[in-house]
Amino acid sequence: MKHNFGAGPGILPQQVLQEAAQAVINFNNSGLSILEISHRSPDFEAVMDEARALVKELLNLGDNYSVMFLHGGASSQFAMLPYNLLGENETAAYLDSGTWANKAIKEAKFFGKVNVVASSKESNYTFIPKDYEIPKDARYFHVTSNNTIYGTQIHQFPESPVPLVSDMSSDIFSREFDANKFGLIYAGAQKNMGPAGVALVIVRNDLVGTVERAIPSMFNYKLHIENGSMYNTPPVFAVYVSMLTLRWVKAQGGIKAMEKINNEKAAKLYAEIDRNTLFKGTCAVEDRSRMNVCFVMNSPEQEKEFLNFAKERDCVGLKGHRSVGGFRASIYNALPLSSVEHLVKAMQDFEKIGS
Ligand code: PMP
Repeated sequence: MKHNFGAGPGILPQQVLQEAAQAVINFNNSGLSILEISHRSPDFEAVMDEARALVKELLNLGDNYSVMFLHGGASSQFAMLPYNLLGENETAAYLDSGTWANKAIKEAKFFGKVNVVASSKESNYTFIPKDYEIPKDARYFHVTSNNTIYGTQIHQFPESPVPLVSDMSSDIFSREFDANKFGLIYAGAQKNMGPAGVALVIVRNDLVGTVERAIPSMFNYKLHIENGSMYNTPPVFAVYVSMLTLRWVKAQGGIKAMEKINNEKAAKLYAEIDRNTLFKGTCAVEDRSRMNVCFVMNSPEQEKEFLNFAKERDCVGLKGHRSVGGFRASIYNALPLSSVEHLVKAMQDFEKIGS
């Protein structure tokens, strides 16, 4: 068995993979593959309905929210959000906490004005900026809840006088939070929710259809909501596997249970990073992510050796992003505690052979 610490597409629950594999051969005992049936068939409509309902249930979302499953990953949402919400002469506020936030900022500038209220770029994004004010006249305030590359996470969302918007690609469904405080949430599926190919978008209904510009159909939230995410052929398999993963989250005890185990995994791994004389964390302790754990070695020349050492022990996907170096252990929902324990043991063994 491999211990998959990859940052994304990331680990999925074994049970989900088994069910998905079965559905590729024979979906719902129909004698047909999920890959060869109409997205308008009752069997698939039931999948889409259940996926949407599970998102609402797991996040305790009120009736004033719509849930969409859209093509184009989280990156398309960088543009689709301002396309639909930000008028040409309006300003949106953004927090620059990493590469993905930066890309979101770049896209928003195509549609309106952008006010970057704070940035940690100067320190290579090793912390989450906290000293800022959200302008009251901004159309919305955009944050990245978890910075996948740098391993930082917002542990306390700001009180915002304007609709709060978050890219939650790498920590959605991993911890409890009040989703009803947000105007819009989006997330690429391929970390905590399913395979690549679909993005989840949750929007408060009063924010939809408020800009004056004409929006082409495929980029128009209103149209996707009205058509139940079936304006065109949806990414059926990605939606199906996401639905299975959401069912799995619910069966584990929902987000509360996920958070408990995720906290335990993160605490174990950070404790070892802090204890082990060979390793050190890369970001501010109070902002450490409980999804992407970034660390380096005090002697960088040993990093390749440890990567191989870990690989020989079936720990894969640990290489850090090139902008941080070292290691990144992504410990998403589907990664069991035993995998973290296995990695911790590898770090301890490596320390022993060196001394
Ligand atoms: N936002 C965050 C926080 C991410 O981690 C990623 C992907 N790693 C993206 C956005 C981009 O997602 P996608 O590849 O689905 O466009």
